[in-house]
Amino acid sequence: MDENTLAYLVVIVIFILFSVIRNTRQSSGGSGRGGKNARIVYSREPDLERTRGLFGMAEQKLEKAGLTDLMLQDFHFRTQLSPAQCKDLQQAQAQLQSMLMEMLPHLHLLPDIRVIMTRDPSELIHGALGQYEHSGSTKTIRILLVPDATPALLAATLCHECSHYFLYSYILSERDSDMNEGLTEVMACLVGFSEIMIQSNPNRDLPYLNRPEFEEVRRCLLAARPALQQKYDQKQNLLNARTQLKKNLAGGRAMLEQTRAMIAVSRSPKKKLSRGELARLQQTLLALENGSCAERLNQAEKALSGDLAAVRGADDSVLAVCGELYRMMLAFQS
Ligand SMILES: [Zn+2]
Repeated sequence: MDENTLAYLVVIVIFILFSVIRNTRQSSGGSGRGGKNARIVYSREPDLERTRGLFGMAEQKLEKAGLTDLMLQDFHFRTQLSPAQCKDLQQAQAQLQSMLMEMLPHLHLLPDIRVIMTRDPSELIHGALGQYEHSGSTKTIRILLVPDATPALLAATLCHECSHYFLYSYILSERDSDMNEGLTEVMACLVGFSEIMIQSNPNRDLPYLNRPEFEEVRRCLLAARPALQQKYDQKQNLLNARTQLKKNLAGGRAMLEQTRAMIAVSRSPKKKLSRGELARLQQTLLALENGSCAERLNQAEKALSGDLAAVRGADDSVLAVCGELYRMMLAFQS
């Protein structure tokens, strides 16, 4: 074996060794993470197509749960976490607990989860920065306080774990654990935490989504908002229409009682009426006596659970009844 061949072989061996080391690192970053937020160096090219797929999946899940309005606004913590507090276990725990109690009501969930911080990595699954656990009614988010923890890193870890709980509570989790982790990151962005997730990136070892992917999620989110806002406004119109219908129904029923009381006292109109007006009045009187006025109000009440057109239609019907009753009241008034 000459010198050149030996040098060539050495290069080959080094190359093989390097590949083995690199593959081992990558595979440990790509599997066995379960429901955890792993702190594993994970460098790969951004996969924007996969990211958009995850976005679509998360959006569909929110739609199914009737929670798409969560996509309309960015969430901001009132509790401030300082870099100094990130060095102190007790202080960091207290701040994160307070932050979690702001996040849960934002997600329409009871604020009843305890945050436990630890410096001992063995309390969490290997490589994890955080984990969500529950046993019976006790729910816990455990977070590892690493020496180089920053407010952005801890906030993003909390968002990630909170997103796991969110998916779990609304029964939206995916069975496949890698898929579920990707979904968890994207869902955290969709429900209001996208800025927090993006900000954490320089400090986070990006186990599931990397920065360009988080930015793609944010871009998709901003693009989806106008149409969602329109849908939400329609929903808001429906809620307002229902409130109005309830109010008008109550008013209509009060008028019905008033008119009945009026008729009981005096059975003939106080004013001179035209033949047409008189015929109309007789119809209303009949409707009052045979109960069809009250029946129309009862029918309208049933539309409260219907769509906007049904509610508006019912409201029109209530207001028509009210109009007839009011005409009658005017005629009977002295
Ligand atoms: Zn996770």
